[in-house]
Amino acid sequence: MDFSIPESTQEMLGRIRNFVETELYPLESEFLEKKFRDMLPVLAEKRQMVRDMGLWLPQIEKEHGGLGLSLLEHGLVSAELGKSPVGNYAFNCQAPDSGNMEILIKFGSPEHHEKYLKPLLAGEIRSCFSMTEPDFPGSNPTWMGTTAEKDGDDYVINGKKWFTSSADGATFAVVMAVTNPEAHRHMRASQILVPLDTPGMTLTANTPCMGHRGDDWTSHGEITYENCRVPQSNLLGPEGGGFMMAQERLGPGRIHHCMRWIGIAERAFDLMCAYAAKREVAPGRPLGTQQIIQAWISESRVQINAARLMVLHAAWMIDNVGQKDARNEVSMIKFNTANMMMDVLDRAIQVHGGLGITDYTPLAFFWRHERAGRIYDGADEVHKVSLAKRLLQPYMDNLEQG
Ligand SMILES: Cc1cc2nc3c(=O)[nH]c(=O)nc-3n(C[C@H](O)[C@H](O)[C@H](O)COP(=O)(O)OP(=O)(O)OC[C@H]3O[C@@H](n4cnc5c(N)ncnc54)[C@H](O)[C@@H]3O)c2cc1C
Repeated sequence: MDFSIPESTQEMLGRIRNFVETELYPLESEFLEKKFRDMLPVLAEKRQMVRDMGLWLPQIEKEHGGLGLSLLEHGLVSAELGKSPVGNYAFNCQAPDSGNMEILIKFGSPEHHEKYLKPLLAGEIRSCFSMTEPDFPGSNPTWMGTTAEKDGDDYVINGKKWFTSSADGATFAVVMAVTNPEAHRHMRASQILVPLDTPGMTLTANTPCMGHRGDDWTSHGEITYENCRVPQSNLLGPEGGGFMMAQERLGPGRIHHCMRWIGIAERAFDLMCAYAAKREVAPGRPLGTQQIIQAWISESRVQINAARLMVLHAAWMIDNVGQKDARNEVSMIKFNTANMMMDVLDRAIQVHGGLGITDYTPLAFFWRHERAGRIYDGADEVHKVSLAKRLLQPYMDNLEQG
């Protein structure tokens, strides 16, 4: 088994690492203090630098202007970008746009490509994905209240959504709505493109999360759809195919998130070790000489390395055998990596003492922002339950046959 990374990939990763450290780390204190909207001009400059370096859209096929990386290679890139809160944004591979790009490439019509995909790939507009509802369990996306009824050539959408991340400032939403209520539960909902300025679609609030309401890309929108009318040509893919398309989006999306979390854990590890080496608990006795701190450092290193190998293996599985046969691996990394990241962040914050709680390091931001990783794209419990069911199945089958 060969664990080496090809030289050309290493060279690219080195350039990305250097860019993140020299161009993005210095923006952090501003990012933590200012509104995201106030950061847009400086981030536009950084995005231009990324284009000029030929590193724009690492996750997208070459024919659409991206780098054409495999999922495994993009995973390695994500681990570098994750070290900065604006890393993915600077390279135009941020959620939820990256998922919407994939969906539009696969299921969009030539008209959708012209109107929505091209400006999205160019970084001229942003988008959002509007599936979760306050009154229905997001963990069971086959059951939702939002409907899209046909009327003439249009769909008329009614319902309520929340956690539509980055709706504030987005140009369009991909909305999941029930179009075929009588169909099998996996075939009821469709994905429909809805421009945010469509009458009847109202962004009522950015939800306050962990003490922050956020704005622009860093927000989570609450949206009402009241007789919101869009042409039926705004349907993405087959009618009733919304659930299948959402599943399709989630496989690679989970690899992207997990590798970004590896990046965050690496950053936390780096900050923890640097502080443990420097901070003295008594003259000439830095924290790093204490056995308990040494244990945290070793435990963190092992957890990060183990999680990283598991995520790269899951990416390799998707690249080589496809998403369906990689379902177990994807479930495993989703909850393992999210929890690993929280463990490492917790230790890094603890090592920093009071400083760890302040916004003078990015640790507290990562802590409050990334806790959600155990909930979105399938809560820990949902992954554990479905993984265990699949693992137990052969034993159940054996019993039945015996
Ligand atoms: C920061 C953030 C960003 C998000 N961005 C988006 C977005 O852009 N677009 C979008 O549409 N949605 C988004 N979401 C919503 C997210 O997908 C849902 O929160 C998630 O699917 C869980 O749904 P829920 O919140 O309704 O919780 P519920 O489904 O009500 O579940 C509550 C809890 O119950 C437990 N649980 C659920 N099912 C089971 C089960 N079968 N067995 C055991 N325990 C179970 C889990 O612990 C779960 O956390 C985002 C959420 C967050 C926090």
